[in-house]
Amino acid sequence: KSAVENPEISTALDVLHSVFGYQTFRKGQQEVIQAALSGRDSLVVMATGNGKSLCYQIPALCFAGLTLVISPLISLMKDQVDQLLANGIAADFLNSTQSLEQQQQVQNKAISGELKLLYLSPEKVMTNSFFQFISLCNVSFIAIDEAHCISQWGHDFRPEYTQLGGLKGCFPHAPIMALTATADSTTRQDILQNLSLNEPHLYVGSFDRPNIRYTLVEKFKPMEQLCNFVAAQKGKSGIVYCNSRSKVERIAEALKKRGISAAAYHAGMESSQREAVQQAFQRDNIQVVVATIAFGMGINKSNVRFVAHFDLSRSIEAYYQETGRAGRDDLPAEAVLFYEPADYAWLHKILLEEPESPQRDIKRHKLEAIGEFAESQTCRRLVLLNYFGENRQTPCNNCDICLDPPKKYDGLLDAQKILSTIYRTGQRFGTQYVIGVMRGLQNQKIKENQHDELKVYGIGKDKSKEYWQSVIRQLIHLGFVQQIISDFGMGTRLQLTESTRPVLRGEVSLELATPRLSSITMVQAPQR
Ligand code: ADP
Ligand code: ZN
Repeated sequence: KSAVENPEISTALDVLHSVFGYQTFRKGQQEVIQAALSGRDSLVVMATGNGKSLCYQIPALCFAGLTLVISPLISLMKDQVDQLLANGIAADFLNSTQSLEQQQQVQNKAISGELKLLYLSPEKVMTNSFFQFISLCNVSFIAIDEAHCISQWGHDFRPEYTQLGGLKGCFPHAPIMALTATADSTTRQDILQNLSLNEPHLYVGSFDRPNIRYTLVEKFKPMEQLCNFVAAQKGKSGIVYCNSRSKVERIAEALKKRGISAAAYHAGMESSQREAVQQAFQRDNIQVVVATIAFGMGINKSNVRFVAHFDLSRSIEAYYQETGRAGRDDLPAEAVLFYEPADYAWLHKILLEEPESPQRDIKRHKLEAIGEFAESQTCRRLVLLNYFGENRQTPCNNCDICLDPPKKYDGLLDAQKILSTIYRTGQRFGTQYVIGVMRGLQNQKIKENQHDELKVYGIGKDKSKEYWQSVIRQLIHLGFVQQIISDFGMGTRLQLTESTRPVLRGEVSLELATPRLSSITMVQAPQR
C-alpha cells in the first residue's frame, strides 16, 4: 500500500467514474494525473477542449488537503466553481469582486478543512494577508491555469503572474501543476524557470485541431473581401479579430450595413457594454463579434463556426489560441487569415523601432514565424504543428494549400544542397549565412570560418537568394530544419532534425513548391 500522501491512480479512476461520471481518461490525462499524485511538479500543454481542468481537479480530490487553483479570469472562476458544486465537490473562490465579509467566510471554510478546491486570482496570492490566511490551511497541491501568462514571451503576459514565482518557496512540499493551451518551446522554458519547478514532468499534447480549416486570403479589397466572406457564412456564429479599436468599429458598421448581426468588442468600451456583447454572443443573439484580442479568453462557446483575422497576429501562439476558439464542438470550422505582406512588414518595422534587447529578439523570432506561416507554400497545419515541435510530415488536406496547391517540383536535390550546407557549417548559422555559403559569396565571415573551402561553397550559385530562402522556409515548415534562437542577441541558427537522414541519403522523394517569387498572388478561399 502506498503512503497516505501519495494516492494511487486507481483512486483517480474511481473519482473519474463516481464524481465526474466519465468512463475513461482522455489522452494525456492519466499520465499527468499520475505525475501529480506521485508528488511531481509538472507543465501540461494541452489543446483547448481536451480536458485540462480534470487534470488538476482529480488530484485535488485524491489528496488529503486543500488544492489552490490560480486562474486569471474571474468570470471563468465562478463557472468552474459552480460546475464543481453541481458535482457535489466543495469548492469556492477568492477574488476582488467579493466583499471583505464574503472573503472572510471563504477563508474560514478553507481553514476549517471544508474546502477541497480554492480558486484564486493571481493578485490575491503572495500578499501578507494571504500568507497569514494560507499558513492556517493544509495545502496539498497547487494548479496554475493559463500558465503562459507568467511568461513575457507568451502572448498574454500578465504582470500579476510573475509573483507566482514565489509559490514554490512557500509550499515546497505541494506539487505544482502549470497548465496552458499554447506555449512554444521558448515560452515553455520560461514558465518552468519562472515558477522554479523542480524536475518537472512535461506533457505536451498534440496541437492538432483537425476540424478547423486554415485558409489564407490575400488582401486585395480587404473590407469587401471580409464582408463577402462573413455574408457567405449565412448566419453562422463567428469572431472577426483586428488590431485596433477604430478598425473594430468600422468593420462592425460595415457588417451591419450588409444586414449582418454584428457587434463591436474592445477594451475601450464600458465593462457593462462588453459583458452585454459577450452574453448576447454566447446566447446566439448576435452572430458576429468584431473584436480586438481583448475578446475571447473568457468565452466558452462551442459552436463558433469561423474565426477571421483581418490583421496578422504577432505570433503563432496567439494565432493558434485565437483560431482555437472555433469548432470546439468538433464540427467543421473555418480559420481565415486575411493577409498582405505589408501587414507583416509593418509589424516588423514597429518592432525594430524598439530598443535592441533579448526580449525584442524573441518577439522578432515569434513574429517571423507567423510571417512564414502566412507566406508558406506547404500545408498550413504542418507549419503550425511543426512550430510547436510535433515533427509531422503528412499534409492535412484541410487547408488552402492542400486544397488548392501551388505548383510542385522534385526538390530532393535542392533540399540536399541546403541540408548539407547546414551540416557542413556546423549547424551554427542562420538562413542568410547558409545561403551566402551556398551562393559562394565573397564575405569576410565566410572566409574567417574557412567555409569558402567547403565542397558546398557555391553549390547554389545558379539561384537567387529569395529562391533559397523560400526553399529553406519550406524545409522548416516540413519539419526537416528547425530554426533555433541561439544565445540571446545572436539571432537564429538552423539545425537539422531527426527526419533529415533519409533526405540526405536520397532514400525518399521530396516534392517542394516552386518558389513564387513574383510577389502578390490572389488566393481564393476554397469552395465548400
Ligand atoms: P480545457 O480546459 O482543456 O479547454 P475542459 O477542462 O474545459 O478543457 O474540458 C472540456 C470538456 O471535456 C469538459 O466538458 C469536460 O467535462 C470534458 N472532459 C474532460 N475530460 C473528460 C473525460 N476523460 N471523458 C469525457 N469528457 C471529458
Ligand atoms: Zn494542409
